[in-house]
Amino acid sequence: MTIREIITIPDPRLKIKAKKITSFDKDLHLLIDDMIETMREAPGVGLAAPQLGISQKIFVAEFGDETDEEVEPKVYIFVNPEITERSDDLMMGIEGCLSVPDYVGDVERHLAVTVKAQNKHGKNFKIKAEGWLARIFQHEIDHLHGVLFPDVAEKLYDITEMADEDLEDIV
Ligand code: ZN
Repeated sequence: MTIREIITIPDPRLKIKAKKITSFDKDLHLLIDDMIETMREAPGVGLAAPQLGISQKIFVAEFGDETDEEVEPKVYIFVNPEITERSDDLMMGIEGCLSVPDYVGDVERHLAVTVKAQNKHGKNFKIKAEGWLARIFQHEIDHLHGVLFPDVAEKLYDITEMADEDLEDIV
């Protein structure tokens, strides 16, 4: 596995709409392994392929139980993800991004979403997520459409003006 370089704004590749994956081969598996390792090394809770300059519809995430720190974080791999349902309820929260190094922002997201995707072998699955996990999924799927959190944030904050505890768990 290789740690790959995470590109940052204003790299134009972050704004490209990602293409659908059609071959679930060894190259895809290698890319996914690299994405997980790169995300962990950063460290971040999610990483989308466009953040490596690769315009393909994949993201990975790693997230534990919000209420129980003893639960081992789970790794999520989404190929060709699509949000199929969105809750009417919205939530405001702070987001950051490995590709937007100097800022975090207040972003309103759906409290719950259902995501349809394929696994690394091309098998279809569906997952419903709530809370922080739903936020991560919406943030990462935005990356696949060339959308970054500052594009949808209500307010941006310079990271150097914030307290450390507020910066935990940024995406
Ligand atoms: Zn991001």
